[in-house]
Amino acid sequence: MNISCRSKTMDTIAARQADCPLKGVSGNIDFYAEDVFNTESIKQYLPSKVAAKLLATINDGKPLNETIASDVAHGMKEWAIDHGATHFTHWFLPLTGSTAEKHDSFLEPVGDKAIMTFSGKNLIVGEPDASSFPSGGLRCTFEARGYTAWDPTSPAFIKRHANGATLCIPTAFCSYTGAALDKKTPVLRSIQALSTATKRLMKAFNQPTGKVTVMLGAEQEYFLIDRLYYLHRPDLVQTGRTLFGAPPPKHQQLEDHYFGSIRQRVLKFMTEVEHELWRLGIPAKTRHNEVAPAQFELAPVFEEVNLAIDHNMLVMEILRQVAERHGLVCLLHEKPFASVNGSGKHNNWSLLCGKVNLLDPGNDPEQNAIFLTALCAMIQAVDKHSDLLLAAVAGAGNDHRLGANEAPPGIISIYLGQQLNEIIELLENGNGGSSHHKASQLRIGVDVLPPLPRDATDRNRTSPFAFTGNKFEFRAPGSSHSCAGAMMVLNTIAAEALDEIAAEIEKFKPKTFNAELQTLLKSIIKKHKRIIFNGDNYSGEWRKEAAARGLFSSPSALEWLKSLTDRKNIDLFEKYKVFTEQEISSRHEVFVEEYRRRIRIEGGIALEICNSMIVPAVVEQFQKVTSALLNAKTLKMTGTSGLTELAKNLGCGIDELGVKAGKLEKALKNNRPEDIVKAMNELRKIADGMENLVADDAWPLPKYREMLFIY
Ligand code: ADP
Ligand code: MG
Repeated sequence: MNISCRSKTMDTIAARQADCPLKGVSGNIDFYAEDVFNTESIKQYLPSKVAAKLLATINDGKPLNETIASDVAHGMKEWAIDHGATHFTHWFLPLTGSTAEKHDSFLEPVGDKAIMTFSGKNLIVGEPDASSFPSGGLRCTFEARGYTAWDPTSPAFIKRHANGATLCIPTAFCSYTGAALDKKTPVLRSIQALSTATKRLMKAFNQPTGKVTVMLGAEQEYFLIDRLYYLHRPDLVQTGRTLFGAPPPKHQQLEDHYFGSIRQRVLKFMTEVEHELWRLGIPAKTRHNEVAPAQFELAPVFEEVNLAIDHNMLVMEILRQVAERHGLVCLLHEKPFASVNGSGKHNNWSLLCGKVNLLDPGNDPEQNAIFLTALCAMIQAVDKHSDLLLAAVAGAGNDHRLGANEAPPGIISIYLGQQLNEIIELLENGNGGSSHHKASQLRIGVDVLPPLPRDATDRNRTSPFAFTGNKFEFRAPGSSHSCAGAMMVLNTIAAEALDEIAAEIEKFKPKTFNAELQTLLKSIIKKHKRIIFNGDNYSGEWRKEAAARGLFSSPSALEWLKSLTDRKNIDLFEKYKVFTEQEISSRHEVFVEEYRRRIRIEGGIALEICNSMIVPAVVEQFQKVTSALLNAKTLKMTGTSGLTELAKNLGCGIDELGVKAGKLEKALKNNRPEDIVKAMNELRKIADGMENLVADDAWPLPKYREMLFIY
C-alpha cells in the first residue's frame, strides 16, 4: 500500500483515537424499545378494545381480526409521526438473505395541501413489484406481483436517519398464488408445526399444554477494520473477503485477543451499536474480543425465534451502519481473512410449553421424563436429518469456515457432555430394575436426574450441535446468514420427531406407561446414537470414525444443498406444511444459483486484481531490480548475485502469475465453481509469495498485518 495512503490512514486513526475515551454516556436505559410499537405504545395509541384484540393476536396467536386493521393503522401512523416518521415500508426477508424495504410516504395531496394517511389495507398487505427478487421460477416475470403480508407477531419499529425516520412493518412475502418467496414464511410455518407437535407430546404425558414458544439466542461474530484499508481492497468491497494476502508473522497464535481488553475506538463503536439496538428493543447483552485479531462478538438475550431472527437481521445492519460512522467497516463474511478464525453465528435454541422448557432437566421425575424424551427426540431428529442441517448452513462463505480449524466440520454430530452422556448410556442399558441411576440403570418416571450444572455441560467448542444445559447450540450457521434457514430446519425436524414419539406414547397403557416409555427411548437411542460424539470434532480420527458410522458428510456445499430435494426431505416439509414440493425445489434452485454467482464474482475480481494491480506491481519491482543489476554490471561491481536471484524470482513470479491467471480465466469461461475456486487458490499462492518480494510501499493492497492490527 503506498505511503501517502498509509500515512493518511494513520492520521485519521490518530485523530479518532484522540476523540476517546467515551464522553457523556449516561447509565440511563429509559430509551429501551423507544422505537418499537410494543404493548406500551399499542395501549397508548389504540382504542382499548382494538388494543386488546391486537394484543390477543400477538400474545396468544389468535387469528388477526381484520376489522381492526384501519384503527391499528391509524394509531400506528400517529405513533410513527410522533417519532419523526414521514414514510412507511413493509420490511421483509427475501431469498437474497438480506432485508428488503420499499418506502412510501404517508402523504396524500388534498387540494393545495397534503395530509398524512395510512389505511388498514396499507398495513395488512403490500404489492411490491417482485420481479427482481430471486424466486427460483416460482413466479414468471410477467406476473411479477408479490405480496407482503403483515406479521403482527414481530412489532413494527422506527428506522431513523439523519433527516427523518421510516416506519418499518415486518411482513411475510409471497407470490400471487401464496407460494413463499421469503425466509420468514417458512419459519412461521415451522413454528406452527413445532407448536402442534409439542402440544401433542405434552398431552400424551398428560401435562397441561400452554402456549408453545421457540427461543433463539443468536451470538454474532464479526470483524472490524479501518475503512480506508477497506476502500483499497477491491476484493473486500466486492466479495466481503480477502482473495489475496500473505499471512502475517503474528496473527492469532499468541491467543492474546480473545476476551482481551477492548480498544477504546472499538468500545466507542460497540456502545453506539448497543444504544441503537436498545432503542429498537433488541436486548444486546454481551460484547467481547474474539479469537482472531480484529474479531468481535455481540450476543443478545434470547427471544422468541421469529422476533430473534428479525432482530438479528437488524443487528447486522446496525453493525454495518455504525461502523461506517466510526470510519470502520464491519465484515460479516464467514472468512474475511485466510489463516485466522472465521466468523459464525451460534444459534442457541430451546423449546417452551407454557413455562416448561422441554430441554431443562427438572426437579421431579415427570419433568425429567419429558426432558429425556425431548432429548431423545432431538437425537433422532438430528440423526435423521443432519443433511438438512448442513443444507441450511451451506454457502460460498461458510465453505471456507466449516471444517477449518476453528469451526465445526461439515459433519453434523451432537455433543451431550459427559454427565448427560452417562445418563443416556444408563437409559440405553437399563431394564427397569433398580430405581437409582447410580446403579447402572435409570428408570424413567422414577428417578430424578442429578442437577446438571449448566456451565459444566459445555466446554466442547468443536461440536456443531452441542447441548448446553437447557438448550442446544447450533454452531454451524455462518456469520452473514439469516438465522431463518437454520431455525426453519431445526423446528421442522424437531416437530417430526416429537410428533412421531407422541404418536407412540399415545398408545401406552397408563399402568405400564413408564416401562413402555423406557423401552421407546431405549430403542431411539440404540437406533440414533451414532450421531452422538463427545470428542474432538476437529481431529482427523473423527472424520474416519464418522465415515465408519455412516454419517452424512460431503465437502461440497452444492451436495449439501442437493439434499433439500431428496424425497425424504420433500415429504417431511410437505407433511408438516412448511414447504410445498414446488417451493422447496425453487429454493434449491435459488441457493445453487446464488452459490455459483458468488464464486464467479470472486473469480472475476481475483483476476482483475491480479492483472491490474499485482502484476503491474511485480513488473515495476522487476524493472527496478533489473536496472539495478544492469547498472551494477556496467560498473563491473561484484556482489550481483542477490540482485540476479531476486530478478529471477520476480521474473518467474510474473510468468507464474500469467499461467495461473490464464487458468482462472479459463475456469471462469467454463463456469464450474470447483474449478474457479481451485484456480483462485493457485493464483493466490503465487501472488502471496510476491507480496514478500515487492517493496512494501509499492504493494497495491493493504496487508494483513495492517488491516488486522492497525485500527
Ligand atoms: P457462550 O459464548 O458461552 O455460548 P453467550 O453468553 O455468548 O455464551 O451466548 C449464549 C446465548 O444463549 C445468549 O444469546 C443467551 O441469551 C442464549 N440463551 C441462554 N439461555 C437460553 C435458552 N434457554 N434458550 C435459548 N437461548 C438461550
Ligand atoms: Mg458467546
